[in-house]
Amino acid sequence: MNTERIALSRPSITALELSCMADAAANGWGEHCYDYIEQFQRTFQQALNVPYAITASSCTGALHMGLAALEIGAGDEVILADSNWIATVAPVVHLGAQPVFVDILADTWCIDPDGVETAITPRTRAIIATHLYGSVCALARLQQIADRHGLVLIEDAAEAIGSEYQGQAVGTFGRFGCFSFHGSKTICTGEGGMLVTRDADFYDKVLTLSNHGRRKGQQRQFWPEVIGFKYKMSNLQAALGCAQTQRMAELVERKRQILAAYRLLLQESDGVKMNVEHPGTRIGAWMPTLVFSPQTGMTARRMVDEFQSRSIDGRVFFHPLSSLPSFGLQAGQPVAADIARRAVNLPSFHDMTDAQIERVTQTVKAALHAGC
Ligand SMILES: *Cc1c(COP(=O)(O)O)cnc(C)c1O
Repeated sequence: MNTERIALSRPSITALELSCMADAAANGWGEHCYDYIEQFQRTFQQALNVPYAITASSCTGALHMGLAALEIGAGDEVILADSNWIATVAPVVHLGAQPVFVDILADTWCIDPDGVETAITPRTRAIIATHLYGSVCALARLQQIADRHGLVLIEDAAEAIGSEYQGQAVGTFGRFGCFSFHGSKTICTGEGGMLVTRDADFYDKVLTLSNHGRRKGQQRQFWPEVIGFKYKMSNLQAALGCAQTQRMAELVERKRQILAAYRLLLQESDGVKMNVEHPGTRIGAWMPTLVFSPQTGMTARRMVDEFQSRSIDGRVFFHPLSSLPSFGLQAGQPVAADIARRAVNLPSFHDMTDAQIERVTQTVKAALHAGC
């Protein structure tokens, strides 16, 4: 049996990426040191059909700057899903605000709007909707709730390049959305992120914060007006981002193909559920995810061990944030905790072969049929 290691994720780097990066390395200095950054922002804006975009060193940095621009801080509460990567909550904590964890919906793994309504207090300022694994949040309901209570809706779209709601790119609905270009994400710049918004004033505020507090158009040199951040993306990384964004449709399509291939090979009858795509939505399918039905007795831990023994990189579903040491090792919200125990992410890199997809599904089937 072929035992060549199957990676969980890996970027697709073609001649286009190499030529853009080589050009940036050779020429992107002096008066050209922002050329690729500006081009990346423009290309990304066009791809998402959103008027403003600001590059950042990471999605975490973009989220931190966006929350800071909203002046969220001590005494404020921010609502987010318990199933999340730590990056979504870290900036909330850094700003001194209180995160409030809400359960997820069992099908999309995204924040439960009913849970959000219950969690609102006079201190609530914002709701962060994370489009987990490329699934699409219940955006219309979340926006209604936010509007009714005077809250700001923010989208963590780090995992949702290519995901759409009613034909519009996710990340472009809330006051701002943020994206990640970490090496594991659908578009890669090594490390990197982007903040997008439709709000001109908000854009100006984040732009100033992102430039160490120096306002655009300020004539006086070295004149920061507020304490800002240094979360910039380099022109070299932006060159990679330009090339990848030009290939965005192709990269997303391949993600969707891989998910479809898994779906074909792993039927519901096998006792697994996968990423859902509700009517009116399109998922970017960043991570094909399997949730084993309780009847199978299969656990995330056991499946990942099984993958490891066959040189396949599988990954456990995110632990509920409230179950982490920083938040008191709590039991976790019920659905978030339950799904985390019995769900895994499957490999899905661009150049994956049919034989590799087959090997992953055979491993899943063998483990399920081995009895539990
Ligand atoms: C990857 C990820 C982030 C953080 O992205 P970085 O670019 O690594 O900061 C934030 N939120 C979610 C949901 C992610 O998956």
